Amino acid sequence: MQTPDTGKITTDEIQTPLLQNKKIEFSVLRLDKIHPVISGNKWFKLKYHLENYNAATYKGILTFGGAWSNHIVSTACACYLQKIKCVGIIRGEKPAHLSVTLNEAIKYGMELKFISRESYSRKENDDFLATITKEFPGYYIIPEGGAGAEGEKGASEILQHATGKKYTHIACAVGTGTMFNGISKSVSANQEVIGIVVLKGWKEKNDNTAKHIYDYHFGGYAKYDASLIDFMNEFYKLTNIPTDFVYTGKLAYAMFDLIKKDRLAPDSKILMIHSGGLQGNASLQKGSLIF
Ligand SMILES: *Cc1c(COP(=O)(O)O)cnc(C)c1O
Repeated sequence: MQTPDTGKITTDEIQTPLLQNKKIEFSVLRLDKIHPVISGNKWFKLKYHLENYNAATYKGILTFGGAWSNHIVSTACACYLQKIKCVGIIRGEKPAHLSVTLNEAIKYGMELKFISRESYSRKENDDFLATITKEFPGYYIIPEGGAGAEGEKGASEILQHATGKKYTHIACAVGTGTMFNGISKSVSANQEVIGIVVLKGWKEKNDNTAKHIYDYHFGGYAKYDASLIDFMNEFYKLTNIPTDFVYTGKLAYAMFDLIKKDRLAPDSKILMIHSGGLQGNASLQKGSLIF
């Protein structure tokens, strides 16, 4: 298995009748090409956590996520490649059949510990972390999704890999918002970062940012409907670019819808971040996607 390679990132300019009609230039930054497992923004978000780990004498890495978490499988694989012991604290009781994602994580040697959703919701509390630290002493803890200052720092390097145009807009999906924050720190004053939020209720829990758009979560995290799947298939036919239904499919859908509704001025030059995550499509019914 090869190590992640940011040299594989391409900036793909796409053309569709809608973009031509609205006079919009649109490119996709293909972070999904970095690595088949440690894909997209997860590699950037892990980078400085791994540096911290290697700079000291920890016993292993411990992190958190759900059954279909891109972060869990990325961390498992990154640790496998660097021969680091790792533990995944998984939200919810252990199901009879493990998800494709968790089976992959086990394959890469991650030890899984399932905890109730109620306990999981307290994972950032001191008392919870004290219990975990007792059970796994000497482990370096990476927050859920690779969030935090290290994650942001890594994400602030994403745009260095883009070629081409002077972009007027950078568009990315927002989960924890770590990637959005990192990218926002690295843009110039005349560039706007648009964040498409993929969770329901995000606005209520976080500071409302004018640049976040909340209308495209399709009912909530990892929820979807036929119109999203149809759009992803159509987008693939037009561009040859596969998307995932949790993040980048909703992002591309949102951007095309905003363009359709004239919310982006003619002559805009948009760079959409393809943040990876294609492994999550394995949870869809076989045959729903044409790629
Ligand atoms: C994790 C993930 C995101 C969300 O990134 P945040 O930094 O948590 O906002 C976006 N896209 C993909 C494909 C992801 O796996």
